[in-house]
Amino acid sequence: MDWFSDSDDTRIDFAATLTGWYAHHKRDLPWRHTRNPYFIWLSEVILQQTRVIQGRPYYERFVAAYPTVQSLADADERELLRLWQGLGYYSRARNMHKTAKYIAGEFAGRFPESYAELLKLPGVGTYTAAAIASFAFDEKVAVVDGNVYRVLARVFGIEEDITTTTAKKTFSALANRLIQQSDNPATYNQAIMEFGAIQCTPVSPDCLLCPLQQQCHAYLTGRQRMLPVKSKKTAVRERFFNYIVIRQGDRIALKERTQKDIWQHLYDFCLIETEEPMEAFRELPEGRVLNWVLQEGILKGLSDERTHVLTHQKIRARFWLVEVPEGRKVELPDGLTFCKPSETERLPKPILVVDYLKSLRF
Ligand code: SF4
Repeated sequence: MDWFSDSDDTRIDFAATLTGWYAHHKRDLPWRHTRNPYFIWLSEVILQQTRVIQGRPYYERFVAAYPTVQSLADADERELLRLWQGLGYYSRARNMHKTAKYIAGEFAGRFPESYAELLKLPGVGTYTAAAIASFAFDEKVAVVDGNVYRVLARVFGIEEDITTTTAKKTFSALANRLIQQSDNPATYNQAIMEFGAIQCTPVSPDCLLCPLQQQCHAYLTGRQRMLPVKSKKTAVRERFFNYIVIRQGDRIALKERTQKDIWQHLYDFCLIETEEPMEAFRELPEGRVLNWVLQEGILKGLSDERTHVLTHQKIRARFWLVEVPEGRKVELPDGLTFCKPSETERLPKPILVVDYLKSLRF
């Protein structure tokens, strides 16, 4: 099927078909009612690796708390991380903050207005630059995200492995050729992504009610499940977190995660990481923390294992609750500080920690 040949009677206008479908099926989402590049950028950062239903309330909270890029640049990082809490991939929030500061400093709070200029912003890649340039400024530059790969691979029967650089070039070239068919690049880009998100879905595409059905290579050859080709499997590293939760009265000992690792600048408990799961307290590696607990605290219990799955890591965590008798003056080990419930509530924390705290009865 040649989608571009004028001499082919079966040629259909790919862009018009998608935008026609979009007009009837699009979800009503708040970032679709704005041309403000800052809000569009916010929504794109929030929606990376996040489902729309989960990201939407965060978008609304961020727009309300930081209505301009300048206000985001001026934000206190701890407050910002607290607002982000539960969304995961916290480096996104920190990078977003850095980019906002850059825009505030270098561009007096005004977003660059072209794809080429947007690409110069720290932390803004080709996808985000294309989204902002097309949605806010109607530039004809195609977005290529996971949804777009899937739709194009299936409709055009592209067998290239989408994790390779050559495939990225192939898909990007095709996407940029297709967008030329449209007079409304903002709508076209949103249409193809929405089509991938709700019609041509990864596991069960709705082919029977699809307007591209008779032109779709995957449908005509029964290869929907095989396309797009994605060969590399992401290696998932398993980590074992033994949290020592030190409590005195209603205060809990917390500390900031300062090392370059997951959850940087979030707060958690005293952590002993091991190579394998630990079942008994005395199996934990000996060290200052363990000696401190044995001297100052009373071991009150051990939680069941809780798992938290990230893209490249699976965290298997257990929480050892240690109580320090009220009134006893102690010097906490390992940079920990006792926090009252109101302080604990305010600090940004990984969701694993938030959930454990909820299960604690005072
Ligand atoms: S026919 Fe099926 S596989 Fe092809 S574009 Fe439509 S939904 Fe996707």
